[in-house]
Amino acid sequence: MSRKILVTSALPYANGSIHLGHLVEYIQTDIWVRFQKMQGSTVHYVCADDTHGTPIMLRAEKEGITPEALIAKVHKEHYADFTEFLVDFDNYYSTNSPENKELASGIYKSLKANGKIATKTIEQFYDPVKNMFLPDRFIKGECPKCHAKDQYGDSCEVCGATYNPTELINPFSAVSGAAPVRKETEHYFFKLSECSDFLRAWTRSGTLQQEAANKMNEWIGEAGENKLSDWDISRDAPYFGFEIPDAPGKYFYVWLDAPIGYMASFKNLCAKNGLDFDEYWKADSKTELYHFIGKDILYFHALFWPATLEYSGYRKPTQVFSHGFLTVNGEKMSKSRGTFITARSYLDHIKNPEYLRYYYAAKLNGSMEDIDLNLEDFVARVNSDLVGKYINIASRTAGFINKRFVGKLVSAKNHAVVEVIKAAAPEIAKAYEARDYSRALREIMRLADLANADVAEAAPWVVSKQEGDAPQAKLHADCSSALEMFRLLTLYLKPALPDLAANIEKFLNIAPLTWTSINDSFIDGHTINEYNHLITRIDPKHIEAMIEANKESLQQVAVPAVNSTPAASENVGDYISIDDFTKVDLRIAKIVNAEHVDGAEKLLCLSLDIGEEKPRQVFAGIKYAYDPATLVGRLTVMVANLAPRKMKFGMSEGMVLAASDENGGPFILSPDVGAQVGMKVK
Ligand SMILES: [Zn+2]
Repeated sequence: MSRKILVTSALPYANGSIHLGHLVEYIQTDIWVRFQKMQGSTVHYVCADDTHGTPIMLRAEKEGITPEALIAKVHKEHYADFTEFLVDFDNYYSTNSPENKELASGIYKSLKANGKIATKTIEQFYDPVKNMFLPDRFIKGECPKCHAKDQYGDSCEVCGATYNPTELINPFSAVSGAAPVRKETEHYFFKLSECSDFLRAWTRSGTLQQEAANKMNEWIGEAGENKLSDWDISRDAPYFGFEIPDAPGKYFYVWLDAPIGYMASFKNLCAKNGLDFDEYWKADSKTELYHFIGKDILYFHALFWPATLEYSGYRKPTQVFSHGFLTVNGEKMSKSRGTFITARSYLDHIKNPEYLRYYYAAKLNGSMEDIDLNLEDFVARVNSDLVGKYINIASRTAGFINKRFVGKLVSAKNHAVVEVIKAAAPEIAKAYEARDYSRALREIMRLADLANADVAEAAPWVVSKQEGDAPQAKLHADCSSALEMFRLLTLYLKPALPDLAANIEKFLNIAPLTWTSINDSFIDGHTINEYNHLITRIDPKHIEAMIEANKESLQQVAVPAVNSTPAASENVGDYISIDDFTKVDLRIAKIVNAEHVDGAEKLLCLSLDIGEEKPRQVFAGIKYAYDPATLVGRLTVMVANLAPRKMKFGMSEGMVLAASDENGGPFILSPDVGAQVGMKVK
């Protein structure tokens, strides 16, 4: 039976731009979703902007617009960025939606009916000018430990100390500058402290990666320990969010309604597509639910969220997948180094989003380790893997099919390397399923190496010059097999490179590839379309320009070293056609005279007879290697149709061929015995 899967990525907060750090998660999720869709599973991938809270309210105020106008503007930007990075949400919604309001209120009422809500009077800092309670991040003052000025209410950026806002020396409101007063207020709490047994069992039941489960166990503690505190889920007005149903002037804390936003986005999709919301969310649902998140929000997704669902009558996630943070060139993203790169800036400079998708995929292994975007390695890997290995298979063979065989293929059944590539499908699928994309791509590149070796051995560029039916048939079969290998590799890479795969499907003239297409081998007579250039190398200059553009102008710091030498690898453009070669008129020449040239350090003046009325005069840079007298009478090879060139010492009417490298030379070429003056070399 086909799987039914609901997948989410964490909701980006609606007060800033999407950057390359965010994209790790969306690309990771999108690859997994695309893989599952290729498997034939029913998959819904939903997300939304996280829109509530004090920071949104204050930023809107600062910009002189309503919070609704701010979140609408940011939603548009976020959605455009994701779309251009080929992150294919089935629904991208907002937590400020009627569905979310209804679901959040319903969940709250259920929790209350189940005795999981309590109220408590607490004391908080209050801004007497702005008439609002202040979240920790909006109180500043002097660090109680190191006495650094202007530190936040929860931690000191100078000495790293963490503390309560009430410990700050000379605190002030970051909103108005006024000295805050302490004021009592009633808050609503979710009784998380009563959920320890449930959470201990749930977090140890295979729902989390081992590393994440261990971390949660530290927080939950062993049976008998009661380490969890109740969770404060309310905030006082003014607040941009949903008012708590039976508590005027009290609002749900943003983290209460943010994960409910996953449900709300799906509910909105259900209304659009006629899906059954309950099938996916009722307590005994048989469908699968996966949340992809960063490790920094594990606490919310592995404790608060499952407990909220458990005690309000909904299903819990099948699994929560956490990933690590992104570093750039081995360090935290930094505005002064220019490595705090927005999605938009990448698109402006590098353009092709699939380079980044490929690179992230090559680094992601399903663990919570941080991943590093090393920009030098990024250029080298994309250029060597994608251009040098993968696309190379088609670029070396497709032209023969197009030109010699009117685009028609012959079947590649039973070709040894084709079979090897096919047989790898289950292992590659297993790696994708486990989110170990790095293993999948290593295997795919190993197969690409096999395919390239097979093409090199078949040497179509040699066979194509041989006359007769047998070489023609071999050329046809070899190039067809190569394109079958290319088709299979495209299928394997498609979750990471969906646009490139779509272009290749067009070129190969085939239906969109799914996992079962592995067995749809080409049949005799299948016609492909004209091969066109599919991908270009990354120019390191564009990386440098991007870094430069992202540097904050006031803090000029040395640019990280960016490779300006493309990695050595097979060059797609290194081949010339036979037509190119035959443009060069090579002739057997007899050296009838050779002499030193006055004033020339390296040159000898040669007179070369190629059967013309009078010998050609050619200046050759071989003075150090040859005594002119030993050359006279020898046969050699010259380029006879090189445009004559006026040199300091006279006209040079051709070029003599000679071999050399750093170890020696030049060595003039000699034809075998029997060659005659003027013969064409071809
Ligand atoms: Zn400090």
